[in-house]
Amino acid sequence: MNNANTRIYLSSPHMGGDELYYVHDAFEKNWIAPLGANVDGFETELQDFTGIEHAAVVTSGTAALHLALMLCGVESGDEVICQSMTFTASANPILYQGATPVFVDSEAETWNMDPELLEKAIWDRIQKKGKPKAIIVVDLYGMPAKMEAIIRISEKYDIPVIEDAAEALGSSIDGQQCGTFGLLSVLSFNGNKIITTSGGGALLSDQQELIEKARFLATQARDDAPHYEHSELGYNYRMSNVLAGIGRGQMKVLDDRIAARRKNFNFYFDALQGSWLEHDSLDSEWQVNDTSNSGIYFLPEPEGYFSNRWLTTVLIKPDETGGVKAEEIRVALEKENIECRPLWKPMHQQPLYKEYPHYGAGVSDWLFEYGLCLPSGSNLTDADRSRVVEAISKVLQPKNLHYLKKDRLSGF
Ligand SMILES: *Cc1c(COP(=O)(O)O)cnc(C)c1O
Repeated sequence: MNNANTRIYLSSPHMGGDELYYVHDAFEKNWIAPLGANVDGFETELQDFTGIEHAAVVTSGTAALHLALMLCGVESGDEVICQSMTFTASANPILYQGATPVFVDSEAETWNMDPELLEKAIWDRIQKKGKPKAIIVVDLYGMPAKMEAIIRISEKYDIPVIEDAAEALGSSIDGQQCGTFGLLSVLSFNGNKIITTSGGGALLSDQQELIEKARFLATQARDDAPHYEHSELGYNYRMSNVLAGIGRGQMKVLDDRIAARRKNFNFYFDALQGSWLEHDSLDSEWQVNDTSNSGIYFLPEPEGYFSNRWLTTVLIKPDETGGVKAEEIRVALEKENIECRPLWKPMHQQPLYKEYPHYGAGVSDWLFEYGLCLPSGSNLTDADRSRVVEAISKVLQPKNLHYLKKDRLSGF
């Protein structure tokens, strides 16, 4: 069979087979309306998996972040600290609340919020505007952030942490699951995430009253009365029982999905002759730990860290690829019907956000310049992965010829 032209996606939905059982169940019992057994079941299964005490499933990860900000009391005029290197959904709910985002750069060891810059930002905002109301930290591409240091700072200044674990279900630090580090934490079940309900999210917390309040706000803030009585502004954010059924089916294969994503990463590392990125490497100071380097760098897991490797991300070092840049690889792969993407463009570089305060050291700019996300779906076949590697090799080889020549010359 020749499937040479079938499109290879970055990260596409991957059903397990049991989803339809739960969806059928919802139909049979006519539990099509928002709440029902699948919603309760999905919430319990998320609690069991992560070890969190309470979970509420909602319409999206973005809705969960919005609820988290409301629960932290974020209002118009407040400031909220947010990781700059992320997807725009981490920051947008700050603007929904009429608050001001303050962006903090990443460190090079996990690509997430730099604890030192976080403290610097908090200290500076206290001098200028007063204490920020919350800290949104992200576990980017499945790699957990430096939670211990970040939580220590949050406790020192008494500012709550909201963990955006939208990409990190199944990741952990010393066995503690992502989605349990914040006062409130957020998951996403969007179509491109490690498991999906086609669209959905969850808000997690160990504090019962917070999750109860979230459920209240997510169902139009209806007061306890026989008629419709409202004393607060509510939202229509609860997940439907039909979609929660898809989530229950997906929970059954979550461990397999994590294993498959990690297998992609290991395959690419070996097949592309990857190098590990040294955590203090920036720009020209990238470590060359191998003379036969392919110029493709991968992020290792710090000790005790476990990443679900949601997406396999690489940094392309032009000095070692004969001048080939990440964007050149992306364009070449697109011509072969293979979808790659640059890393997230940092918020402080976005037209929407560039006027807001930013505490940076250049790490996220560097990541954006050199980074590339490779096809990472859990449904990729061996043939798909080989096609990706062959396509990358084709771009690199001609440019690498000068290395070959140099080697030959050195033999004379
Ligand atoms: C996907 C994602 C979100 C938003 O989730 P949705 O369910 O798509 O609203 C938030 N933050 C990050 C980092 C994400 O990757």
